[in-house]
Amino acid sequence: MRVGRPLSGGCQCGAVRYHLSGSLIEPSICHCRMCQKAFGAFYAPLVGVRRAGFRLTRGELAIFRSSDLVERGFCRDCGTPLTFDDLDRDEMAVSIGSLDDPSVARPIIQFGLEGRIAWVGELDDLPGSNTPDEGPPAKYEAIRRTNHQHPDHDTAAWPPAGTSSRGQGSEIDG
Ligand SMILES: [Zn+2]
Ligand SMILES: [Zn+2]
Repeated sequence: MRVGRPLSGGCQCGAVRYHLSGSLIEPSICHCRMCQKAFGAFYAPLVGVRRAGFRLTRGELAIFRSSDLVERGFCRDCGTPLTFDDLDRDEMAVSIGSLDDPSVARPIIQFGLEGRIAWVGELDDLPGSNTPDEGPPAKYEAIRRTNHQHPDHDTAAWPPAGTSSRGQGSEIDG
């Protein structure tokens, strides 16, 4: 899928921001044990991009070399997994959840099936609730009011002027 204007994304705290241009390549989920560990999750959602189509617009990636062939980039301040770079190829991948609009990269394939957790396909059938319904309204309001997450769009400066710590985003979920 070719993207018209650059797609933006970044880490949870906003210290690292990026743009993607060119084509999105083979959005996927990877169940391998290394991706589970790197994302702290059941699988890793990743979308490929030509290396030249990835541009940092704020901050720097911290790198963990998970093998001699692969570098995994993340935010040193907040820990968000951001990139997967197979050094043998001229493509790299970006974590789909770090895109400002993750819905643009619908996965079309799964990798690392040997590591797939048996019940992962059943998760969609679990009972659920919306975040505001999960606890006392006052607590939810406090989380919303003190949210330090960067909003899902580019910002001229971060944290916003006049905020003491990391500022306040406009999104929800503590
Ligand atoms: Zn961060
Ligand atoms: Zn993997």
